[in-house]
Amino acid sequence: MNESFLVYHEPVFRPPSEANSVILQVTHGCKWNQCTFCEMYTSKKYSVKPFSTITKEVRILSEIHPTAKRLFIGDGDLFSVEFPLILKVLECIKKGLPQINRISTYASTRTLSKFTSEQLQAINEAGLDLLYVGLESGDDNVLSLINKGTTAALQTEACLKAKNAGFKLSVMILSGLGGKVHTENHALNSAKLLNAIQPDLLALLVISFPFGYAHFQERTKAHFEPLSQLEMLKEMRLLLSNLNLKSTVFRSDHASNYLVFKGGLNRDKETFIQQLDDIIEHTIHVPSPHLNVRQHL
Ligand code: SF4
Repeated sequence: MNESFLVYHEPVFRPPSEANSVILQVTHGCKWNQCTFCEMYTSKKYSVKPFSTITKEVRILSEIHPTAKRLFIGDGDLFSVEFPLILKVLECIKKGLPQINRISTYASTRTLSKFTSEQLQAINEAGLDLLYVGLESGDDNVLSLINKGTTAALQTEACLKAKNAGFKLSVMILSGLGGKVHTENHALNSAKLLNAIQPDLLALLVISFPFGYAHFQERTKAHFEPLSQLEMLKEMRLLLSNLNLKSTVFRSDHASNYLVFKGGLNRDKETFIQQLDDIIEHTIHVPSPHLNVRQHL
């Protein structure tokens, strides 16, 4: 058996931009595992790998990928791990895979906020460069609806602390997450949160129902009316038009997106909005939230 199979505990998730990265799982699953829209790790029981296993896996990965330049640490949230272990893992990567020049991971604002500024700075200096943060929304009602375990104020504080510690931030917002009831506040308050954070990268994804809408409804335990495709586009327009981001790179190129936009928001925002207006004008009302037509511009 290929040794790479030995070091991975499936399913393994990583952002699209980490497609060519070596993946080192320090945890299995997500400690929180309670966000009602997220099914990524519901099949996994959370655990932290023993450090002896991690060192062995770094050795195996160094033999399989001797020239790899990027490494992504899985699974769901590295900051669910104690500070000393994070430092030891980064030290081990530095020794075992010295050619790696970028290390990234998923991080939640709920756990990030528990680390001091000094600890975050030490982790950044030890080699962790980029954090992928699923903000999902800047609206407290939406965050409560999806049981994210955080608030907009906490998200702002945690992200600014991480930025000040030296991390690059790639954040995610989920279109349609507030359904019909919260769509306007979801867009406006998410824009407010993003303007406060000024992330390096912003990915806009679209809510999907991998186990069906009824399953999602059962998990949220609240009435949720999904947006139509047209309403989703209008929500995207409202978000974009309220963004005031100086140097953020924007992407809506995930498999869930209806529209693929890529560009710098300071430069391309008006073009995106104009194209959205054209599309909104010519989009007929399609009530199904499951219709996912990708349109490349
Ligand atoms: S914290 Fe992230 S990985 Fe964990 S359940 Fe929530 S969205 Fe999913």
